[in-house]
Amino acid sequence: MKKVFIKSGKTDALKRFHPWIFSGALSKEDPGITDGELVEVCAANGDFLAFGHYQDGSIKIRVLSFEPLTGDYGGFWLQRLQDAFQLRQTLGFGLDAATNAYRLVHAEGDQLPGLIIDIYDRTAVVQCHSIGMHRDLPWIREALLQVPGLTLEAIYDKSRETLPAGFAETVENRYIWQSSQGTSAIRENGHTFVVDWEKGQKTGFFLDQRDNRQLLARYAPGKTVLNAFSYSGGFSVYALAAGAQQVHSVDVSKQAIELTEQNVALLKDTDPGRHQAFAQDVFAFLKQSEPVYDIMVVDPPAFAKNLKKRHNAVQGYKRLNAAALEKIKPGGLLFTFSCSQVIDRQLFQDTLVAAALEAGRPVRILHQLNQGADHPVNIFHPEGAYLKGLVLYVG
Ligand code: SAH
Repeated sequence: MKKVFIKSGKTDALKRFHPWIFSGALSKEDPGITDGELVEVCAANGDFLAFGHYQDGSIKIRVLSFEPLTGDYGGFWLQRLQDAFQLRQTLGFGLDAATNAYRLVHAEGDQLPGLIIDIYDRTAVVQCHSIGMHRDLPWIREALLQVPGLTLEAIYDKSRETLPAGFAETVENRYIWQSSQGTSAIRENGHTFVVDWEKGQKTGFFLDQRDNRQLLARYAPGKTVLNAFSYSGGFSVYALAAGAQQVHSVDVSKQAIELTEQNVALLKDTDPGRHQAFAQDVFAFLKQSEPVYDIMVVDPPAFAKNLKKRHNAVQGYKRLNAAALEKIKPGGLLFTFSCSQVIDRQLFQDTLVAAALEAGRPVRILHQLNQGADHPVNIFHPEGAYLKGLVLYVG
């Protein structure tokens, strides 16, 4: 492994096990290191500190381990993936027939920065966010196939959308082991959803909302529900199955609305008249829609992908939530979310304060919500807690 050296005085974050090394912290590098290469990170005096993937840019090293590599790299990968699978088994995944879709690897949360692996029944969908992870795909594939207890029929690499521009153009999404028809009917808490990892958004399904959908089911019986930003209808299906009186799903993407309708149609014994889907912009829908709802779910895409966009994003969340609050019946509930990593929980809550003031509604917080436990947060990398949600009681 080639080496990079940390400036003396810049080792604090590393000593706290933060897995990112910024370019400004490096004093020198061995010549000829290429993007995605595995490098050893050393203190100014040459002591080993970590090893990780090198990539030119603001985050220059993504740390894979703070221990030296002993044995071969294949062994490292098998250990990491085995650890990840063991945690999911502890959480009940892989054993529970009611749920057969879960996140197996959540990047920094599994000490593998830049790597996401979602399991949809017997297909693993791999999404690399760094060049190093993409270069390591052969290792990842071999290790996935060796994890005891993990039974796979196909592995699909879907990294073209998430790799840095420039490199992304050189890769295609493709099966890296066997192949499948591209969709699967998965189960989540006993509900069936068709997941299309080839054509769908992200890896195909928003697994991170599983527990929050279950919470909605608790409140939905007999209620009118708006599921805004529905994607494939996760919240809609849970609400309908729980006996909601009426559910409206809204998403700007026609394809998402088709997926929603397809998933609602899989519900047994459900009167189709209870659900209506609208391929429309949520802001426009809220402006013109007549009805007021007992419960509203508002789960937009990340409004801010980086710090520069944070201010505009806050304004966006405020406007959206103020508009939503105006359409909720007195005594109703708002399930509201932000999946922007740069908007922390406190800022999100402050934004809801501003929205409540603007809408002139008294609001109480009932629940504080997170991503599911199969999306663990590395305690040394709090940025990993990206999904924030609040359930608000609107008086
Ligand atoms: N709640 C969903 C995930 C939502 S992802 C679930 O549980 O699966 C965000 C969705 O918002 C995407 O499907 C995207 O198509 C949609 N979207 C983005 N901008 C929108 C807008 N302005 N109006 C309506 N939908 C929008």
